[in-house]
Amino acid sequence: MLSRATARASNHLFFKNKNSQFLGLSNNLSYAASNPVSNFVSITWNNNNTSRMSKMKSFTTRATAQPLKNADELIDSVETFIFDCDGVIWKGDKLIDGVPETLDMLRSKGKRLVFVTNNSTKSRKQYGKKFETLGLNVSEEEIFASSFAAAAYLKSINFPKDKKVYVIGEDGILKELELAGFQYLGGPEDGEKKIELKPGFLMEHDESVGAVVVGFDRYVNYFKIQYGTLCIRENPGCLFIATNRDAVTHLTDAQEWAGGGSMVGAIQGSTQREPLVVGKPSTFMMDYLANEFGILKSQICMVGDRLDTDILFGQNGGCKTLLVLSGVTTLPVLQNPSNTIQPDFYTNKISDFLSLKAATV
Ligand SMILES: [Mg+2]
Repeated sequence: MLSRATARASNHLFFKNKNSQFLGLSNNLSYAASNPVSNFVSITWNNNNTSRMSKMKSFTTRATAQPLKNADELIDSVETFIFDCDGVIWKGDKLIDGVPETLDMLRSKGKRLVFVTNNSTKSRKQYGKKFETLGLNVSEEEIFASSFAAAAYLKSINFPKDKKVYVIGEDGILKELELAGFQYLGGPEDGEKKIELKPGFLMEHDESVGAVVVGFDRYVNYFKIQYGTLCIRENPGCLFIATNRDAVTHLTDAQEWAGGGSMVGAIQGSTQREPLVVGKPSTFMMDYLANEFGILKSQICMVGDRLDTDILFGQNGGCKTLLVLSGVTTLPVLQNPSNTIQPDFYTNKISDFLSLKAATV
C-alpha cells in the first residue's frame, strides 16, 4: 500500500510535506523531510531529538454557512467527496435514507468517493463488511479508519520493525498493525488484567516498545494505563499516538458515551505529554489521501455531521466543506453565535443532492 503511495507520490509534486500540523508536541520525535516528493513517507523515526513540531493550527474563521441550494454546482466543482460515516452514511447500524442512490449518482458522474471515520475499533476490512451488510458497494481501498491511519503513520515515519507497539484500544488497531507488519502487544488481551498491589510491587514493562497507540477502548483499565504510561515515560523516544480525541461516541442512540478522548486524556494526564493525533481533525489522513489518490485538496469536498472534527478536518486540509444535519449537529447549534466553525454549506442529509438536483432541472 505505502510503496504504491510512494510511487504515485513521485508523480504528484504538488503534495507538500510542510503539513506537520497533524502532529501534537512530542519530546522525542523529529521530522526529516529529506525528500519532497516522497512527502510524509520520508519522515524518519528518531529517538534522540527534541521536538520541533508545532501544535495543530486553529481553524480559519469563515463567513456564515450557506444552505445548499444548488447541489450540481457543488458536485461539479470537486472531483472527490470524503464522507464521514456515522451520522452521514449510517446511524448506528441503520442506513440513512437515500444514501445508496446518492452514492450511485455521484459515481455515475465520475466522482471519487472516500469514507473516513475516527472510529478505531474496526479495521478497513471490518468496515468493508459493514458497508456490505448495509448493501453499499464500497471497496476497502475507499475506507480510511483511524485504526488504519495509526498503522499508516508508523509506516510513514519508518517505525523500526524491531520495536513494538503497545495498544490501548480494540481489535481494529491490532488488525491494521498486523497488516502493516508491526509487532504489538496489549489491546483486548490486557482487558482482564488487574494489578495486585503488594509492598514494593514494581510493574515490569517491555523496553522494546517504541510507540503507544491509544484509541477508543471499552475495556480500558488501570493495568493498561500504567503499562502505557511506563512505556512512554521510561522507554527512550517512545511515541504517544492517538487515533482521535473525540469527546463522545455513540454506542447507543439513547445517550452520548465517553469517546476516545477519554482514553487519550488518561495517558496525557499521567505522562504530561501531548499525543500525535492521526484521526480527524488532524490533517494526516487528508495528506495521506491526497498522496494515495494523487488529488488536489481544493478538489475535495468534506462531508460530515460534526463541526469540531469533520468540518475542521476539511478546513484544515483546505477543502470545501458540507455539514449534514443527519447526525449530531443541529441547525441551532450551527447557527449559535458561540459556534465559530462554519462550513461552506449545510443541508439536511446527503440525499438532498438528488432532490436539490431535481429541483434545478
Ligand atoms: Mg459522524
